[in-house]
Amino acid sequence: MSSIHAEPPPPIVTEPTGVNYATGPSLGKGGFAICHRAERYDGSKPTGHIVALKIVKTKMEPAKLAQKFVSELQIHSKLSHPNIVTFYRAFSFQTSTYVVLDMCPNGSLADMLKKRKCLTLPEIRRFVIQICGAVKYLHTRHVVHRDLKTGNLFLDANMNVQVGDFGLAALLVTEKEMEVKRRTTMCGTPNYLAPEILEKGKGHNEKVDLWSIGVITYTLAVGRAPFHASSKEEIYKKLKQGEYKWPELSATHNDISADLRNTVASLLVPEEDRPEPDDIIGQPFFRMGYVPHHIPVASREKIPQWS
Ligand code: ADP
Repeated sequence: MSSIHAEPPPPIVTEPTGVNYATGPSLGKGGFAICHRAERYDGSKPTGHIVALKIVKTKMEPAKLAQKFVSELQIHSKLSHPNIVTFYRAFSFQTSTYVVLDMCPNGSLADMLKKRKCLTLPEIRRFVIQICGAVKYLHTRHVVHRDLKTGNLFLDANMNVQVGDFGLAALLVTEKEMEVKRRTTMCGTPNYLAPEILEKGKGHNEKVDLWSIGVITYTLAVGRAPFHASSKEEIYKKLKQGEYKWPELSATHNDISADLRNTVASLLVPEEDRPEPDDIIGQPFFRMGYVPHHIPVASREKIPQWS
């Protein structure tokens, strides 16, 4: 049964505190939520503050999905980092739950790839450094995202990466017990899954996010995921064997540097050998090449020229 709103949201949504949101156009639909652009109103006064309103039917089916949403809220509401989508609040109104998030007006890295096919090395450096910063922050707080992929990496007004969608994130260590728990749930999108997730009975820890950083880096450079096949089974087979190839040139005929290949190769390995975020960004690909201070918004569609 689908749990996503089929009908448009009410034009005005009200928090229990009396704050209103005027809902605007849809921003996109996810696995179990729909997002709308909305403007915050203090009473009847528009504030000009534009947010993303994630809407989930409160009576979700099946129960497991409801659980996923509660865990997303619990985890996301405690996070604060410049490269993680800001969570403002969550509240119930009529038959739905609303999550108020910082608006990412420039889409996701997946949207950017659709337009550009693949990105330039300076862009990849800046984006991956930002992803590593967010992942380091999450892991020091014992949160593992578990679903890092280009579609969950949003872009704010200044084209900075904002890691979003904490639907599959798990708190690995409870604050009280500080006891490491290995998760045994099957989750994630097949292309980005770490091989240990496929091994029956074997749990997985925060290292799955490092594998995903390798897959993301490859995907941004080449224009498609490294473990690529027509069926799910074949993708599984390839990633279990760590079988991926580099094309001679990227989708836009760019050279793919040896340093970038080495970074990806350092990540697509068994979990115990994967470098930590700080070690990743210390590698030659990041240290020996140009890292732009800013990525222009126009680069969502056009190859940027670095002067
Ligand atoms: P789900 O958890 O169901 O997968 P998502 O969090 O992926 O839902 O949100 C669904 C869609 O809404 C996304 O694919 C994206 O297009 C859009 N979206 C989500 N969060 C934001 C945001 N903060 N700013 C702008 N668009 C967003």
